[in-house]
Amino acid sequence: MKSPKNGGTRFTRPITTLTSARRSAVTLRRLSGHAYNSVIVICPGVSIVRIVKYPHPTLRHKSRELKRVDTELRKAIAEMFDLMYHHHGIGLAANQVDLPYRVFILNVTGDPAVKDQEYVLINPTILKFSGNIEAEEGCLSFPEIYAPVRRSERIVAVAYNLAGEEKQYEVDGLFARAFQHENDHLDGKLFIDRLSPSHLLNIRDDLLALEAEFSGDRERGVMPDDRQIAARLTELERQRT
Ligand code: ZN
Repeated sequence: MKSPKNGGTRFTRPITTLTSARRSAVTLRRLSGHAYNSVIVICPGVSIVRIVKYPHPTLRHKSRELKRVDTELRKAIAEMFDLMYHHHGIGLAANQVDLPYRVFILNVTGDPAVKDQEYVLINPTILKFSGNIEAEEGCLSFPEIYAPVRRSERIVAVAYNLAGEEKQYEVDGLFARAFQHENDHLDGKLFIDRLSPSHLLNIRDDLLALEAEFSGDRERGVMPDDRQIAARLTELERQRT
């Protein structure tokens, strides 16, 4: 998610690569106590540093739960934080970097120096919604597009952190809004799906421009077709969920 009124800049840093090291793995334990036992190796040799923009199909993918946190996942998440700050974001979901996993990050201050506001939410579940409030939102997958979105004012949620501990969150304000926005991403739901017809109409031309840009990428051969994208996601899921 992007804070209202923050200007975005195009990301130009070099592509980086994840290695296949597998140190210091943490197993995520269900409340039932059954440990997961498969190993995650996120994209050895494959860049994750690009944010995909609407209407990239991965943004519509319903992500599957991660089963283990290890060095590879920590590296992927560190990359996500770098990307999020570079684009002046306050939240970023794995779908937005073309990974099919149920994890997102938040720092509602948007300030990389404020480390105690950095949150990694793995396999999140929102348990309780209350109140109702409309506020303007943006999204790093919809550059320069903002619109008012109605959401719950307060939520109670649980998620694993990077240490593999399950934490409960009782939050309101911007944190609750950003949490709901990013959690939607994990189900393939986008903020434009929650707009009133009139608000959607207001940004229609901007959405059409993004769709035209995506079609242009396809025509130039720099964007894989839907079948290739789906096959890659399936393979990533097979390995890590
Ligand atoms: Zn978003």
